Amino acid sequence: MAISNVVVIGAGTMGNGIVHVFAQTGYAVTMVDVSEQSLQKGLATIDANLSRQVKKETITEAQKSDILARISLSTDLSSAAKEADLIVEAATENQAVKISLFQQCDAVCKDETIFASNTSSISITTLGAATKRADKFIGMHFFNPVPVMKLCEIVRGIATSDATYTIIETLAKELGKTPVSVQDYPGFISNRILMPMINEAVYCLMEGVASAEDIDTVMKLGMAHPMGPLQLADFIGLDVCLFIMEVLHDGLGDSKYRPCPLLRRMVAAGYLGKKSGRGFYQY
Ligand code: NAD
Repeated sequence: MAISNVVVIGAGTMGNGIVHVFAQTGYAVTMVDVSEQSLQKGLATIDANLSRQVKKETITEAQKSDILARISLSTDLSSAAKEADLIVEAATENQAVKISLFQQCDAVCKDETIFASNTSSISITTLGAATKRADKFIGMHFFNPVPVMKLCEIVRGIATSDATYTIIETLAKELGKTPVSVQDYPGFISNRILMPMINEAVYCLMEGVASAEDIDTVMKLGMAHPMGPLQLADFIGLDVCLFIMEVLHDGLGDSKYRPCPLLRRMVAAGYLGKKSGRGFYQY
């Protein structure tokens, strides 16, 4: 099936980036959100990011106008989804919310429409099983900022068909991304490896092995990471890191994934990282 009409659910950090990339590749894309204010904010972000591209001369002013003209906004998912060939869901990370959104789409979408979720931690198999099209259900896990980051983990649920996988892999390449094929296990590849590293860095801090600055310096200068794990955790949000560690711990059942008590204490205190002004560092 040829994909031409795309609906992206969620206009937040990830949603507006995904819309940007589809529109820039030439797709007609509708950005759907529950909140009109989020839609306007998402569109303003896309506009500002495109202006930066114009300034850098990677696109022209005329191309920017064409890209923006391919984007529509809607708060009415059912009517937007009717015409969609592909739904990419990037709404809040909550299983019940995502299931309800996909069931709403299932009721109105064409039989051929493919459903993709950008979830970081929820099982693609579970989400797919809540619809009548588990074979056409897949994970497209983009990275922030979406227009810049090249990676897309393509997550195959237990029932995802080879045909669906091939369409989405081809599409990811067309969007300029490097797709990686991942089976649906907790944390996929990215968070399965990243979050335990961050968690271990928090253990080092808790046990007094070194200061936060020194832990980050070792990983930056010794391992050539662009950012240390504690600073990265502050940027991701400590609540998000804790949540994903819980998903790994529950889903894989191995004590090596137990969240560090200091991470729990910081989240309990409301020290969530950059977004709250305080995490391992002050902002
Ligand atoms: P966000 O909070 O910035 O945006 C979420 C948006 O979803 C908000 O605009 C909200 O209004 C909207 N929304 C909530 N319920 C909705 C509903 N019922 N219908 C329509 N819209 C609804 O979140 P985000 O960081 O963009 O994350 C979105 C998804 O992407 C999550 O599943 C997250 O796990 C995943 N993800 C995030 C990152 C990241 O770095 N932030 C990276 C990869 C994947």
